[in-house]
Amino acid sequence: MREIEMSVQDKSVTVPGMSVEAEDEKGVSEAKELQKKLTWKFPNIGKEAPEQREEAYIYCEKYKNFLNAAKTERECVQEAVKMLESGGYRPFEPGKTYACGEKVYMVNRGKALIMTTFGRRPLEDGLRLNAAHIDSPRLDLKPNPMYEKSEVAYFKTHYYGGIRKYQWTATPLAMHGIAVRKDGEIVQFAIGEKEGEPVFCVTDLLPHLSAEQNERKLRDGIKGEELNIVIGSLPFPDAGEEVKESVKLLALSVLNEQFGITEKDFFRAEIEFVPAVRAADVGFDRSMIGAYGQDDRVCAYTAMTAEIDTAAPEYTTVTILADKEEIGSVGNTGLNSDFVLHYIQDLAEAFGVSCRRVLKNSLCLSSDVNAAYDPTFSSVYEERNSCFLNKGCVLTKYTGARGKSGSSDASAETMAKVIGIMEREGVYWQAGELGAVDAGGGGTVALYVAGMNVDVVDLGVPVLSMHSPFEITAKMDVYNTYKAFCAFYK
Ligand code: MN
Ligand code: MN
Repeated sequence: MREIEMSVQDKSVTVPGMSVEAEDEKGVSEAKELQKKLTWKFPNIGKEAPEQREEAYIYCEKYKNFLNAAKTERECVQEAVKMLESGGYRPFEPGKTYACGEKVYMVNRGKALIMTTFGRRPLEDGLRLNAAHIDSPRLDLKPNPMYEKSEVAYFKTHYYGGIRKYQWTATPLAMHGIAVRKDGEIVQFAIGEKEGEPVFCVTDLLPHLSAEQNERKLRDGIKGEELNIVIGSLPFPDAGEEVKESVKLLALSVLNEQFGITEKDFFRAEIEFVPAVRAADVGFDRSMIGAYGQDDRVCAYTAMTAEIDTAAPEYTTVTILADKEEIGSVGNTGLNSDFVLHYIQDLAEAFGVSCRRVLKNSLCLSSDVNAAYDPTFSSVYEERNSCFLNKGCVLTKYTGARGKSGSSDASAETMAKVIGIMEREGVYWQAGELGAVDAGGGGTVALYVAGMNVDVVDLGVPVLSMHSPFEITAKMDVYNTYKAFCAFYK
């Protein structure tokens, strides 16, 4: 360590870091210089690169349209396929070999999607994988959902993913999903999104009568069995006294008229209620986006558009939009299933190379959001290791709870690779943990990717009010995440 030189006449000892008056100015400027060289703080993009504002805002207009069109995993896949088809992608054919620059996709059961752009290097050199998820917390209908109580008709729900139940009352909800009719025909719903369509709602108590409810813990402010959705209030006309539950009957008759379904068809359905709110700019400066389902459609959209915009990448890309992340990546459309492995095996077989070697040489971004530092609730964050709005995409070395339980702790070497890729392309990035140690925790798909012997790290967008009906992201971060994915695929 270097010392600051001092004159022997003034002082008989040299004290590191201290300067005498005559040397003051020189010392200060040297210290500043050294500080710049040795210490690191992630900059605010608005300060360092305000010129990115316009491109970021333009990019986010299309992102908002995507959010409005794709509120469920199935709708995400449908929107994605439209974008892929017009981007030159064709359905993947197992057994076929493809040339550099060719683009293919594969849909898994209408709820998950894999896309590939073939690269310049041989497949054996590894893939560039990018996995985001397209399911979001919501209210699912129970298999037998419809009932009437005190002449009001309702749907019973079973919430999906981690929600704070009180946030889902007294807010307009839209009905999405599918039902398979007895004749085999699939009916698709999206009611409550367009102007003029009815919406639905979970009721809550008025403050005048909530004294008892106020004594509950916030966690139980609204209980699971209280998440009942109002769907009708008038009885079927001229039903008379003999017909019981005629309010339910009227609601059911409307559904039957419009979609040809009966009560029994709910057993052959997947119906999801989501906030009937459109994506909007937030703030006087319009710097943020508020919308439902940005976890993790913000990474799904940025990953997919980067994938589409990639012409002839060095490594073959595999971009995955997965389902079921919010409930543990379970099921055959979640990343704990082998559908991605089987896809990569198909690729390897077609090119006559070892799938194991392909996997071992691959690098994956587990693209998911992280909790942006919220000054209003600062105590659950550790500020030095949090991510912030407008500091770029966030690289998350590990997630998990307590002692990193349930995480896939990325190696230093993997961190170095990904940081190197971003810095070469001038991407604004930051590092962050999910809140303070022992404040809670979370997980992503990373551990399932790592389970295939692939190097993987989490990267995504900082989000405020995560898992709420109105999640907030910053446009600069969304845009730099897109840029990070473009750099990754280059
Ligand atoms: Mn997520
Ligand atoms: Mn989530």
